[in-house]
Amino acid sequence: MYLLFDIGGTKTRIAFSSDGTSFEAPVKLETPVDFSVAMQAYKTEGDKIVNGRPIHAVAAGVKFLNKERNGMLAQALLPMWANQPLKQSLSEMFQVPAYLENDTAIVGLGEAAYGAARGYGIVVYMTISTGVGGVRIIDGAIERSAQGFEPGHSIIQYAERDIRCLSCGVAGDLESYISGRAFERRFGKKPYDVTDPAIWDEAATVLAAALANVSVFWSPECIVVGGSMMKHPGISLDAVRTKLPQFLRIFPQPPELKPEALGDDGGLYGALAFVVKQHARL
Ligand SMILES: [Zn+2]
Repeated sequence: MYLLFDIGGTKTRIAFSSDGTSFEAPVKLETPVDFSVAMQAYKTEGDKIVNGRPIHAVAAGVKFLNKERNGMLAQALLPMWANQPLKQSLSEMFQVPAYLENDTAIVGLGEAAYGAARGYGIVVYMTISTGVGGVRIIDGAIERSAQGFEPGHSIIQYAERDIRCLSCGVAGDLESYISGRAFERRFGKKPYDVTDPAIWDEAATVLAAALANVSVFWSPECIVVGGSMMKHPGISLDAVRTKLPQFLRIFPQPPELKPEALGDDGGLYGALAFVVKQHARL
């Protein structure tokens, strides 16, 4: 029925859904650095997985997607993927429509449809990882936007001069405090080697302030928080939950905070939820 892709910078996961409600055990492969090699590998693996069964659409969550051009951004996943026509390639290879979305939006959709926020109507998903991203999901659909969602680049401290974002160059944004890359730059080691509880407690305070901002702008019922910085050692979601009310006094009750539930399969669940919704429109 549907062939699902979760295309990351180092790993790709591919799975088949024969019923539109679940998928079979995914196949994992290293993401080839060369775009045309990747497409050949995806075709070979995809055909094996589909094994002659009817296929109606392909869906993929992918980093650095240029949604207007349905290809890859110049800054791309991998340099040799820059400006490549990913959607067209997937569609032509499998002779069906291909539906592509940004990876963070897809994982958020997966958590809303099948994971931690199942049953909630207004959901925000935040990922605190190498970078910081997020998305709002309304009634099981990724909310429309003019230019995407970038809560990682919301300003935490406008007068900050020394803490500058490694992605956008702005001083004092959320990503410049609590992303994995920012931690490496600030502390000179991998985040999982940072063991000082005071550092993680400060990061929890910054995240609580950021989630207060998310709450007043996006007014979610539930915020799902995931990503490698939320592991142990890492930011404690319990600490964030305790700190949030001090920043969010305007609402009588803060939104529910939940850890992500789907782990490595979040992208495939999201691709499934996405293709079911998109393809049903045809
Ligand atoms: Zn930034």
